[in-house]
Amino acid sequence: MTNLDSDMTFPTYGGEVKPATGATLFALGSWLRRGKASADARQLFLEGGRDGDSFYRDRWSYDKIVRSTHGVNCTGSCSWKIYVKDGVITWETQQTDYPSTGADMPEYEPRGCPRGAAFSWYEYSPTRIKYPYVRGVLLDMFREAKKRLGDPVDAWAAVVEDPEKARAYKSQRGRGGMVRVSWEEAMEIVASAYVHTIKQYGPDRIAGFSVIPAMSMISYGAGARFHELIGATMLSFYDWYADLPPASPQVFGDQTDVPEAGDWFNSQYLIMWGTNLPLTRTPDAHFMAEARYHGQKVVVVSPDFADNTKFADDWLRVQPGTDGALAQAMGHVILKEFHVGKR
Ligand code: SF4
Repeated sequence: MTNLDSDMTFPTYGGEVKPATGATLFALGSWLRRGKASADARQLFLEGGRDGDSFYRDRWSYDKIVRSTHGVNCTGSCSWKIYVKDGVITWETQQTDYPSTGADMPEYEPRGCPRGAAFSWYEYSPTRIKYPYVRGVLLDMFREAKKRLGDPVDAWAAVVEDPEKARAYKSQRGRGGMVRVSWEEAMEIVASAYVHTIKQYGPDRIAGFSVIPAMSMISYGAGARFHELIGATMLSFYDWYADLPPASPQVFGDQTDVPEAGDWFNSQYLIMWGTNLPLTRTPDAHFMAEARYHGQKVVVVSPDFADNTKFADDWLRVQPGTDGALAQAMGHVILKEFHVGKR
């Protein structure tokens, strides 16, 4: 019983007469929103008037689906369905048509991560950089020199070979002051720097960098081929953002020359070191989980109880900053005790 219960009755919009129980309030709702209430007043049936939720339907509507990935600084290269409405990306879902790897290996699916699922928001972010920018102080000096000398290579030389001018723009690095320029002017400045450096010092004094191959093979191939053809040193993108093993490309000269993540399944011993696998290699992390069911032992070397640590059979908690010494000590033991000592 509630204080709403009484001997009173209330007509509903559907024409029924209801006792004034606690359900009365719900039945009265049929007058506020014109519709037919169910006998127990738990449901209200409305007709028409679907405009109110068209916003939600429009949010998920699309004209076409295209295949793509999230190439910006991610080597995952997961295959996604991109839903497009009026030329605008509206949402994404993971592709599910990866070929099978066979009965005795784990499949690639599912691939993807929450960051990727939200990637279309980056696409239209007002902070996304779409144009070339040059530091203002450098641009002013280059333009002035080009106006005075008439030749862009001479203009670059006049700036970069003048200690005062060189210091003026290099000292501003990290302080902003970037100015938007046209693609033509940006390319002219870059090309002038290349030509001047080659003329003055030789091509091997150029250390080139191009984007990660997993991001865009065409961009990577164009940059790498260009530097190799002019005789420059081709750096690895790891040298730039250094979140993966820079030693590997520095020693071997190509991107991490290692088996791909699916091959972890074939290993009986896995060391996670320098990566928090579920977070930083989300689409591949399931191979590690599947390999554990395959009897694999998992060891984590990490200073903190990171997400991946909970998957480990053994956790080697190194002091921050000492893992380089640990790696060298391990290499020393392997070489000394198993190759020199037991030759
Ligand atoms: S790992 Fe995430 S961001 Fe990278 S390609 Fe896959 S879904 Fe996209």
